[in-house]
Amino acid sequence: MSPVFVPSSNIALLRESATIAVSQRAKALKAAGRQVIDLGAGEPDFDTPAFIRDAATAALNAGATRYTATEGILPLREAIAAQARAMGPAGADVEALDVVVSNGSKQSIFNACTVLFGPGDEVLVPTPSWTSYYEIVQLARAEPVEVRGARERDLKVTRADLEAAATPKTRGLMLNSPCNPTGAVYTAAELRDLLDLAHERGWWVLSDEIYRRICYSGDAASALQVAAARDNLVVIDGVAKAYAMTGWRVGWTVAPRAVSKAMGAFQSHATFHTAAASQHGALEALRQSERSDAEIARMVAEYKARRDAALAIFATEPTLPLVRPDGAFYFYFDVSAAFPGDPDAGTSFAKRLLEDHGVAMVPGAAFRTPDWIRASYAAPQAEVVEGISRAVSLWRSLQ
Ligand code: GLU
Repeated sequence: MSPVFVPSSNIALLRESATIAVSQRAKALKAAGRQVIDLGAGEPDFDTPAFIRDAATAALNAGATRYTATEGILPLREAIAAQARAMGPAGADVEALDVVVSNGSKQSIFNACTVLFGPGDEVLVPTPSWTSYYEIVQLARAEPVEVRGARERDLKVTRADLEAAATPKTRGLMLNSPCNPTGAVYTAAELRDLLDLAHERGWWVLSDEIYRRICYSGDAASALQVAAARDNLVVIDGVAKAYAMTGWRVGWTVAPRAVSKAMGAFQSHATFHTAAASQHGALEALRQSERSDAEIARMVAEYKARRDAALAIFATEPTLPLVRPDGAFYFYFDVSAAFPGDPDAGTSFAKRLLEDHGVAMVPGAAFRTPDWIRASYAAPQAEVVEGISRAVSLWRSLQ
């Protein structure tokens, strides 16, 4: 007898990742022969630097084909700890035992939410935020509480915004600077304000710093640089974005020892560890910091050139509301005026843009702000310019 599939209560609220769905749809359309400009995926279009690939190949040939420690190979954890110590005062005492390496920073966030939050807990999520924060908090059976950032502050939240949304059930706060989907960057002072509040209230802070090095005014501030202490802090990072290593799946957490221990135990049953060869590649990326810095500088300069070229196109439509990004590789703009009265203008716009103009972007509903739409400029400059031009023309035609 075949059982009838009834989704378990674990996934009662689950929705598929819209960021992944859009990029897979764009890939499928391309495979079917359609000309599509994909500004959906938040994925660097650069190849992983050769010296990193070579190190992973050499490691494989030298026998890195077996299980590793759950929390990652020791030299990698040590390199991550050294980086955290160099970051600033709150990181000064970080050791390898405070680091857990995972299958991408997505799993790091999953580990952290699972061990820190549960039924009855509320987690403040500055909104808009990356789609998976809301879903992962829900998978931990806690409740994500959307905290809107004001338009005049590039949708960033303030201490007062968080205070207004907090309740006695608040247990955590998600932070992400530079921010996906807006590209907005919190100054060190802005970040400190939020971290101070969280510390006063005894909230856990998950600071997702995956875009920290992709910033056009120098590296963005890390929570480890500005926090008074790290006893309530889980810093999440990885190699995917800055080092163009998305497919390698290497992310990590720097967290208080007891939290790291719990995350390791959880991961030991979930995925055990990320691929040995990937860990050796990541180790080389961190060890060879001068070479990596040069590669990162080259890629960031390229993202900046694309951003500036696209900003020149947006400037021709000054009435189209846009966050001016200073980091990450996203544009976020409000298309509600194109579909008056439509509660999901971003999705309507994205559909028209893909079907009639062959450009893929991610609707803002994925980031809990359905009036907006996200364009990634992690794509060749000619495609970025053409894709943004078509979006602006569509917007103009709908006025
Ligand atoms: N983080 C990227 C994005 O927002 C990659 C896809 C994903 O994992 O969401 O597009």
